Amino acid sequence: MTPTPPAPSVPRQPVRRVVIAGGGTAGWMMAACIAKHLGKQLDIRLVESDEIGTVGVGEATIPTMLTFHQLLGLDEREFMAATQATIKLGIQFEGWRDRDATYIHAFGSTGIDHWTAGFQHFWMKGRERGLASDYGDYCLELRAAQQHRFAHLPGDGINYAFHLDASLYGAFLRRFSEGFGVRRIEGRIAEVLLRPDGDLRALKLQDGSEIEGDLFVDCTGMRSVLLGQTLGVGYQDWSHWLPCDSAIALQTASVRDAVPYTRAIAHPWGWQWQIPLQHRVGNGVVFSSRYTDDDTARAALLGNIEGEVLTPHRVIRFKPGQRDVVWRRNCVAVGLASGFLEPLESTSIHLIQRSAIRLLQMFPKEGIRQSDIDEYNAQMRHELEHIRDFIVLHYHLQQRTDSPMWRDLREMPVPASLRHRLDLFRETGRVFRGPNELFTENSWIQVMLGQGLMPEQHHPTADLMSDRELAGFLGGIKTRIDQTVQQMPGHQQYIARYAPGT
Ligand code: FAD
Repeated sequence: MTPTPPAPSVPRQPVRRVVIAGGGTAGWMMAACIAKHLGKQLDIRLVESDEIGTVGVGEATIPTMLTFHQLLGLDEREFMAATQATIKLGIQFEGWRDRDATYIHAFGSTGIDHWTAGFQHFWMKGRERGLASDYGDYCLELRAAQQHRFAHLPGDGINYAFHLDASLYGAFLRRFSEGFGVRRIEGRIAEVLLRPDGDLRALKLQDGSEIEGDLFVDCTGMRSVLLGQTLGVGYQDWSHWLPCDSAIALQTASVRDAVPYTRAIAHPWGWQWQIPLQHRVGNGVVFSSRYTDDDTARAALLGNIEGEVLTPHRVIRFKPGQRDVVWRRNCVAVGLASGFLEPLESTSIHLIQRSAIRLLQMFPKEGIRQSDIDEYNAQMRHELEHIRDFIVLHYHLQQRTDSPMWRDLREMPVPASLRHRLDLFRETGRVFRGPNELFTENSWIQVMLGQGLMPEQHHPTADLMSDRELAGFLGGIKTRIDQTVQQMPGHQQYIARYAPGT
């Protein structure tokens, strides 16, 4: 029998000095959050290298970002103006179910649920009786997105997120963090120095200076200089479920009004994004090197954009997956240093903010404890696996026959957790959201319907309604939504008035 290795020794001294390695979106989001909430008790330093730079992409977000900004006490108008942000109400998937199909995965909810049965059951019943129109017609955010309209509504009446300029966001958070006492150090980390017990002691920079710390946050991007390279934490590769491993990004001049949604356009070997900001458009392709080459992907991208190209287009390689653990000893990895899932549902920035919030919730008082480390790792893992399933869903559930990639992905065995969710929806129309899961029932339903999966039956509660009652119920929701959307101004017009870019 192999003896169980002892748990790594952990420092017991209180954490007073936090060192953040890396100043991309992850580094500055972590700095901002820790400094705002614990800055008075801590010495926080952030090391970044201008020479290395940041990944420079990551511009579509999801509504949880509003919570993060509330926790920081940020002014929305100021943030939007500083980052040239526009509103995002969802993602339009083009060519995912089959080459000609388009649907929107919108934020918010659809229709009105009954406690026994979600709205989808009543919609299915209505559809069966010829009383219901498209599922999306009962979702406010989706209807507003389709009509390119937006307005803030009283009482959190509309769910939205942002498209933003990643480098401007980093600069904005840097100003914020420095205001709360974070000290930025420019320099390249040449070596990571350890204590005798194996914990991290200091970052040694190329100029020979040493930055000592009690807790280290590894935000060094895909290099993962601290957790991966120094502590040797392994990487779980999920490319058997998510074959895309490369991306090309570029920016173009805006030639039309910004739409309030991200476009995700499927190609035979991957997909393309389009993210409209106030001052320009972010574009890119995500593709699988197993199914195509850089030149083909680049040509497809350049052939399907509008406006003058403003930036060079470089290829970014990545490995879909996650580190075996994201917190080991006195080092927590966040952002690309902890793993990466392709940006299909814009979840990376969300995961950074979850890391920040979770780290604050588990912030050590008298020194780092293994139980906190284990809990943190378990929660992050669960959250990431849930997101992974949701992304795999888009690739697996489709009817495209035009390329080997889509055919292979349809046939592949998917994670058991996803298999169960698909079977449950197919057989019963039901979806349940577990604790700590990002995507709501409505998100799963929109994507499963959008990708072509219609449940075999609906809940019996829906049968209790007469045709008249059901028509009144469905029609009432649709009419209220249409009336609300009609009163909203155009998205571009609204942004220009509310938070014009500075
Ligand atoms: P990076 O931006 O790579 O920053 C790493 C930092 O570490 C830099 O400051 C660098 O200088 C520093 N560094 C590294 N090594 C050293 C060293 N030796 N010494 C000193 N400093 C060092 N996320 C979303 O939420 N929405 C999206 O739409 C989205 N789109 C994406 C599209 C693509 C193609 C990719 C690849 C990612 C996308 N992401 C998206 C993810 C998002 O870009 C990242 O999660 C986010 O930018 C965080 O990156 P990071 O800060 O971890 O790493």
